[in-house]
Amino acid sequence: MEKDHGSGPGRPADALGMTPKEMRRLGHLVVDLVVDHCESRADGPAIQQGTPEELRAVLGGPVPEVPGDADRAIRTLVDTALANMQHGDHPRYFARVPGPSSFAAVLGEWLGTGHNAIATSWGGGSGPTTVELVVVDWLRELLGMPEGTDGILVSGGSLANLTAFATARAELGDGVAYLTDQTHSSIARDLRALGFPPDHVRVLRSDEQLRMPVGELAAAVAADRAAGRRPLMVVATAGTTNTGTVDPLPEIADLCRAEGLWFHIDGAYGAPAALSATGAAALAGMERADSLVIDPHKWLFQPYDVGCVLVRRPGALERAFTINAEYLNTSAAGGEVNLRDRSLELSRRSRALKLWLTFRVYGAAGIRAAISQGIALAEFTESRLRADPRWEVVTPAQLGVVTFALTHGGDGAHATRAASLAASGYAAVTSTTVHGRSVLRLCTINPTTTEDDIIQTLDRLATP
Ligand code: PLP
Repeated sequence: MEKDHGSGPGRPADALGMTPKEMRRLGHLVVDLVVDHCESRADGPAIQQGTPEELRAVLGGPVPEVPGDADRAIRTLVDTALANMQHGDHPRYFARVPGPSSFAAVLGEWLGTGHNAIATSWGGGSGPTTVELVVVDWLRELLGMPEGTDGILVSGGSLANLTAFATARAELGDGVAYLTDQTHSSIARDLRALGFPPDHVRVLRSDEQLRMPVGELAAAVAADRAAGRRPLMVVATAGTTNTGTVDPLPEIADLCRAEGLWFHIDGAYGAPAALSATGAAALAGMERADSLVIDPHKWLFQPYDVGCVLVRRPGALERAFTINAEYLNTSAAGGEVNLRDRSLELSRRSRALKLWLTFRVYGAAGIRAAISQGIALAEFTESRLRADPRWEVVTPAQLGVVTFALTHGGDGAHATRAASLAASGYAAVTSTTVHGRSVLRLCTINPTTTEDDIIQTLDRLATP
């Protein structure tokens, strides 16, 4: 049939009346401001925090009733709102999990936003849906999961893990979940939100290397069975946030298979390391997961937000989340997937465009090299610490994370040193605890970080 697009001149380009000329002018201004930020971020602070009064004084006020100056408003956002935050893309932001997003990903995000892309149903978004299915399959392949594994992009690790847990329970029914004291704190919240009662959440003390103790896991499973409870799933971590530790995945996979348990892996932080040779060795066994979470906004160079859950059983996500039973299992047959049926989100933006563009622009090789560099930088940090009598390494470099302590008087000083370094603006590091011991922690996954950045940061931390 001939298409009828009903074209005609004179229709406004902007829903609220901005002219195309002004749209271009402001759009170019925004691009310039962002590229300026990318070029000069190393000269600014790694983290900055304002007071509520300061921020409200500039950003607050009554509802703006009449049109305002767009240039001024944009600059206010840049100078005040966007200045006062952790700059996770700064080369010396080593705290928590940095967010070194790539520019191709930013462009993908802008394109999707500019087109108001929606990835809810096949009928309403076949293009963005295809991009998402393709991207999820690229991730599946890179992480070694079998063909037929399904997946979905959500806002991040917390929601990706929750999506996996809801799916496990829909497939297998109620039961006990096994974690460790190193499992990310969002996981206990996910389980609580899903209605797991406290006696269905078993938190094991991690072993000396901060790993899940498989012997104690087996004993806990047996004890629960003996007490009439039903063991449901094990939540292993592939790269803990605190120390980058990987649980003994092959042994846990064996136990899950023998006991008929769902094997979930939270690789929100660490799973991208599988793209590099060193990371792949550390993460062996990850491909055996029933469900696996990876957060591209952590270590795949994506801006917030995007997390991904992969589920080995074809159709399990749809069985858990289909919004209308009439559609159940009708969508995937011809490749016409309705992504609204794979998570709790109905209207959902296309988080896949940025990832797709990143892979197309830099190639997996470019991403792999950047990940390898992050791993190597943590190893460099460890070697500097070992060569310096002022420092003791507490946990070695693992997947881009190293923790360490002052040889003398660390306990009281770590938090103060980290805070004054952050206040100086030079760098941001985390002060945390490892099995109750106070430590400092660097996460070195930003490929724009130099060895000199690390040398200077360690030196400032060592100096009272
Ligand atoms: N799991 C791990 C291992 C994490 O490191 C994090 C966040 O740092 C999460 C889950 C939660 O992810 P998000 O903050 O994207 O919800």
